[in-house]
Amino acid sequence: MTSTDPDCLFCKIVAGDIPADIVRESEHTIAFRDINAQAPTHVLVIPKRHEPDIGSLAAADPDAALALLHEARAIADTEGNGTYRLVFNTGADANQTVFHCHGHVLAGRSMGWPPG
Ligand code: AMP
Ligand code: ZN
Repeated sequence: MTSTDPDCLFCKIVAGDIPADIVRESEHTIAFRDINAQAPTHVLVIPKRHEPDIGSLAAADPDAALALLHEARAIADTEGNGTYRLVFNTGADANQTVFHCHGHVLAGRSMGWPPG
């Protein structure tokens, strides 16, 4: 059974109540372009079920967590040369602002290390 949070922005995108530029969909996930892109490719890949972060998702629904990783690579393969960064900001101190699990797929430019 899929869990949702009626107050969650990304649950509303999953439900189609808020528009998004959706680039991929699978049984467990959807992926859409970030409204504030930080790279030529900046896509958010999210589980359809509401979980606050990737650790919670992995514990609650391992198939969905695995699907999210597969989808991230598929996005990078489709939009570029397969070189990408996959970021899960987890917790407010790590700059997580939307508490529905999402991986940032960033590609299309060179990147520095460490991240800011
Ligand atoms: P984070 O800071 O890791 O929680 O990332 C949240 C991301 O969601 C940010 O990069 C925002 O630009 C992005 N975002 C917020 N609202 C929307 C929206 N309606 N459609 C697409 N991306 C969004
Ligand atoms: Zn949600």
